[in-house]
Amino acid sequence: MKVELRADTVELSGYVNAVERRSELLPKAKGRDAPGDFREVIRQGAFADSLRRNPKVDFKLNHSRVLPDSIELEEDNIGLYACAQVTDEEIISLARAGKLKGWSFGMNPIESSYKQASDGTYERDISKLDMFEVSILTHRPAYPATSVELRDGRVIEYRDSEITPEELEQINQYTLNDMKAEDLFTFSVILCDNEIDRDGERFSVAALEKLAELYVGKTGIFDHDPKGSNQSARIYDCSVVTDVSRTTAAGEPLTQLRAKAYMARTSSNADLITEISAGIKKEVSVSCSVSRIICSICGADHRNVPCEHIKGNYYDGKRCHSILEEPTDAYEWSFVAVPAQKGAGVTKICSESEQEEKDKAIIAAKSREIEILKMKGRKNYESESTY
Ligand SMILES: [Zn+2]
Repeated sequence: MKVELRADTVELSGYVNAVERRSELLPKAKGRDAPGDFREVIRQGAFADSLRRNPKVDFKLNHSRVLPDSIELEEDNIGLYACAQVTDEEIISLARAGKLKGWSFGMNPIESSYKQASDGTYERDISKLDMFEVSILTHRPAYPATSVELRDGRVIEYRDSEITPEELEQINQYTLNDMKAEDLFTFSVILCDNEIDRDGERFSVAALEKLAELYVGKTGIFDHDPKGSNQSARIYDCSVVTDVSRTTAAGEPLTQLRAKAYMARTSSNADLITEISAGIKKEVSVSCSVSRIICSICGADHRNVPCEHIKGNYYDGKRCHSILEEPTDAYEWSFVAVPAQKGAGVTKICSESEQEEKDKAIIAAKSREIEILKMKGRKNYESESTY
């Protein structure tokens, strides 16, 4: 959960539940019909369906007191996202004391089933539910995945030939039928790095190395739209690259997580490949969860222990920031194409009909730009923030 302190309000945002992910082990008492202790998975679309049928959801503290403020809820391709501007005084003082730990929700399962796992516990699968409440918690939530970090990266190069036999072999581990180099389009992406970002956070190098393992094989979608399945790319290789000639604000050599991705060339993604090849500016955004958020000054883990240090302030000449450690899951990476700035692009001569196609591509790219700005707005705050 993200907690942004302002003069007389606090903004809370984050994922209440990441769909298709297992909760921590819940006691039998938590599920009315549970045959034993269980882990729970909420299926994609279940929250969106509930919100359509019943948009009115109570906003509470610790499942008890109803808060006077409203909460915005939306299911996206990661899960149920919440955002609230809270004026309630108790919440503001809890936020200042670093006591807000996460989200929880109240629901009645409508379609659910249990099956036994090999360790004797149960897994509960919920495909339809009625959500009636979302709570802010002063203790740790049952779903570890409710702390999703969003990050921005960019595409560094593309190419539409020169796939080496070794790369082809790597790619063919993920394809149903063996692909030929000419059927593939590949490109490289910087997913993230160890530089302190505008939220005052950075990944450690060890975290980048772990993410490199987690991202191999992950499918990237375009424009955060999981429905465009024919327009997806998959990462087939990931590596951590250190550039000793560049130093981050924290004084480390710049280290980047680079991924190589491929797309199968099809008639439906030909425009997209053209768009990328035409030198349109390329960006990606990635999301993952981490299990530790460390204060750079005192080493406190902000997941459990608040400290008095404020991100962006200086202590003995050192700027306070948070270090993201121990990634546990990589959710998605999304490819976003936005038009190149005027005067910065490459001029190409093309026929009128090609020009029309290009204009269309640029219009499409512009609507995507709006989309990504909306996504970025979620984490792009200038104010003082704490976890
Ligand atoms: Zn600290």
